[in-house]
Amino acid sequence: MRSYVFPGDIEERISAIGSQPIPYMRTDEFSRINKDSERILLNLIHCKNGRAILYTGSGTGAMSATVENYVSTKKKALVIDGGSFGHRWYEMCRYYGIPVFNYFVPFAQDIDYDDLEKTLSREKPDVFLCQHHETSTGQLFNLEKISAICRRHKISLVVDAISSFLAEELDMDALEIDICIVSSQKGLNIPPGLSVVFLRKNLNGHPWGRKGYYWDFEDNLRNLSRGQTPFSPATTLFLQLHARLEQLEAEGGEVKNIARVHHRAGIFRRLCREYGWEIPAEVPSFAITGFQTKEKTPGKVFRSLIEKHQTFIMPGDRPGFYRVSHMGLQTEEDLRELAARIHEFEAE
Ligand SMILES: *Cc1c(COP(=O)(O)O)cnc(C)c1O
Repeated sequence: MRSYVFPGDIEERISAIGSQPIPYMRTDEFSRINKDSERILLNLIHCKNGRAILYTGSGTGAMSATVENYVSTKKKALVIDGGSFGHRWYEMCRYYGIPVFNYFVPFAQDIDYDDLEKTLSREKPDVFLCQHHETSTGQLFNLEKISAICRRHKISLVVDAISSFLAEELDMDALEIDICIVSSQKGLNIPPGLSVVFLRKNLNGHPWGRKGYYWDFEDNLRNLSRGQTPFSPATTLFLQLHARLEQLEAEGGEVKNIARVHHRAGIFRRLCREYGWEIPAEVPSFAITGFQTKEKTPGKVFRSLIEKHQTFIMPGDRPGFYRVSHMGLQTEEDLRELAARIHEFEAE
């Protein structure tokens, strides 16, 4: 099997942990592991003296936690709706009855930052919700510009960095991002099921909203202080997370991983040019390549890759538009082979 989705192909060492006996988790040993995971995570995202809540739950759980506990304490949110993940922020605000302005960005386009600033002056939100990378299209938004605008208007910035973490540079402190969200199966490339909410140090003592029992920040932070979780953690995933984080720390942090992801994306994008596949994203993230094939029979590429080669890529919202992740293990030969197969099936 070959996987170019989330996660991609996982290192043997990490997946092997999944077949080991599962230790009891209410122990000092497990607590030490989690406290160490929190420490490394905070270093990787540059969130000095902040906190990193580890949740058993996919990325959407961490988004929901953030809306319940933080966004709900604000008067009005502005959401960047540049695709299905941005739209999820909007739906969550509506779900919890939080006043929200939906700033729509067309498919795969960048934000018009001047227009955005004008909209902020008019709408006066006090919290800004966006994605760093809108995974549904491959578009990367400019956090330097967003951060500068939020600073000028004194708006709290919350970023879903689920699919950019470890694929793009990201410095929470420098960008003054109050909350960042990350999940296990994307940049970390370990199995799905864990997510992380990073809280910058200035949020220490914030009166949290407490709108949901399971994700409650206070309860989770209290437990995390001793390396524990209020409810049963997905123990194996926590161990895989720690092993992966130790690996990243041993290679000096996030820089090498980001370079690897960039390298793979570069290779695949050259292949896209060779085969004449357009990359619609105005500013594409290195995390994935979203590309428009010339597929004759809708869904043929996707199904044939599975049926003939046990290979997974991600379909997109439009016919013939596919996405290939660059987070997992992949060599130049792998990517050449993948592109050649896609080319073969697009003509069928
Ligand atoms: C994957 C992803 C999510 C979370 O999706 P889950 O299915 O809950 O893991 C949220 N935002 C972005 C940008 C993503 O790529």
